[in-house]
Amino acid sequence: MKRMYRRDFLRALGLGSVAAIGAGRAWGAPIHEGSRIVEQGMAVSRGGAAFFEDGKVVQPRREIPVFRDTDVLVVGGGTAGVLAALAAARAGVRVTLVERYGCFGGLWTAGLVLIVLCTHVRTGGKHQKVVQGIGDEMLARIAELKHGAINYGPESTHDATTDPEVTKYVMATMLREAGVDILLHGWVTNAIMDGNTIQGVLFESKSGCLAVKAKVVVDASGDGDVLDAAGAESVPHIHRIGLVHRLGNVPSGLDSKGLNLGGGTPVPGVRWVNMQGPQGDCLDIQTLTQCELDAREAIWAKLKEIQERPGYENVFLLDVASQLGVRASRTLVGTEELRLEECRSGKARPDVVGVGGSYSILDMQPCPIPYGTLVPKRVDNLLAAGRCVAADNAMLNYTRLIAPCMLTGHAAGAAAATAVTSKVSPRNVDVAAVQGLLKQQKAYLG
Ligand SMILES: Cc1cc2nc3c(=O)[nH]c(=O)nc-3n(C[C@H](O)[C@H](O)[C@H](O)COP(=O)(O)OP(=O)(O)OC[C@H]3O[C@@H](n4cnc5c(N)ncnc54)[C@H](O)[C@@H]3O)c2cc1C
Repeated sequence: MKRMYRRDFLRALGLGSVAAIGAGRAWGAPIHEGSRIVEQGMAVSRGGAAFFEDGKVVQPRREIPVFRDTDVLVVGGGTAGVLAALAAARAGVRVTLVERYGCFGGLWTAGLVLIVLCTHVRTGGKHQKVVQGIGDEMLARIAELKHGAINYGPESTHDATTDPEVTKYVMATMLREAGVDILLHGWVTNAIMDGNTIQGVLFESKSGCLAVKAKVVVDASGDGDVLDAAGAESVPHIHRIGLVHRLGNVPSGLDSKGLNLGGGTPVPGVRWVNMQGPQGDCLDIQTLTQCELDAREAIWAKLKEIQERPGYENVFLLDVASQLGVRASRTLVGTEELRLEECRSGKARPDVVGVGGSYSILDMQPCPIPYGTLVPKRVDNLLAAGRCVAADNAMLNYTRLIAPCMLTGHAAGAAAATAVTSKVSPRNVDVAAVQGLLKQQKAYLG
């Protein structure tokens, strides 16, 4: 396939500079030239159609092309996946990132969950930033852009709220700067195994089914899709499924009693509205469909109510999250587990790989996260990151927050890179070396 350079791409988009093609002509460029018929696209590896045999659907045996051979493969480009890819790539190993959608950030952006909880510890009037390193660098870069963030900075006593498009843009920029090999629109469906060792994954795409071979795989899919495919033990969860939306043109200073207008965003007049939603099995396609449809109806009904209130007639629905608000589905059974009572008692964690900020369930104490919560009990060369790491039912409501996902993502990427460079499985990696790399990347470990 012919490689398209940035300049050619911008030219094709009609977004080139004025000097290159002339702004007026670019935006108004005609589209009548029709399509181009190409000689041969990329081979689509379906291996022939499926068929019925004895009333069962059978897929023919087929060979799947190895599309990439990499050191570290990260599955999922949400908060945890992006942090993992950046940490590993900056440590000098080859990283490929496969994401099922067309943008980065997962629930933080496509899910429109905009407030980044637990970046600081707040005790006795003190306010200390514990999420440092790559996560904080990302927040700072988001905040630097116009309408990028509110409540970010040394003086702030609130959690930062970010703009989803700015966040997607900053994430993509950082990944490209770090040289991460990015594959968007690829849905990982299976693992390639040799006994208990993962060797890569299969993903479905418009180019058919393709394989990625990797030395270490980081499952940052949120749902533990790779953990499950690889046969790693996991715990299934039923949790609330919501659908977040944003309202535009929301006036301030009026009586809003009884109206849920959500929280402020970096864009004036725009508010993001969280939704609890019903409890459901987040891995069941019928539940996901029902929740998506019901939630959209509820959002429109609520909008009508808002618009009926004097002064709010011109409020409009800006957007509904393109990623359904799945809070928890699978969590890893790790070599260690974060347990609420141990966390509350301030248990020492010699293998700490990140320290999370204050949260009500922890009586506002900092939360050291041990490395073992990322490591499957029985599958090798695989790590978990983000909301699927090992935590009990209570602590899951902490590890799934955006800042802790930054920490476990950063840690998984650093551990994966350390495993590759020291030629051992992540299970046997020298945790002190991982901690050293994390500190080099400016992470705070207490
Ligand atoms: C309604 C709701 C409200 C919340 N409120 C807050 C809040 O106020 N503050 C806060 O800090 N946190 C909040 N959270 C939690 C937080 O937003 C998420 O838990 C966190 O963003 C998860 O990050 P992650 O990277 O682990 O997973 P995700 O953000 O889910 O990212 C996973 C990524 O993997 C991709 N993916 C999934 N499966 C595959 C596959 N098979 N192949 C390829 N790609 C795949 C997805 O497209 C996605 O990009 C909320 C969550 C919800 C649902």
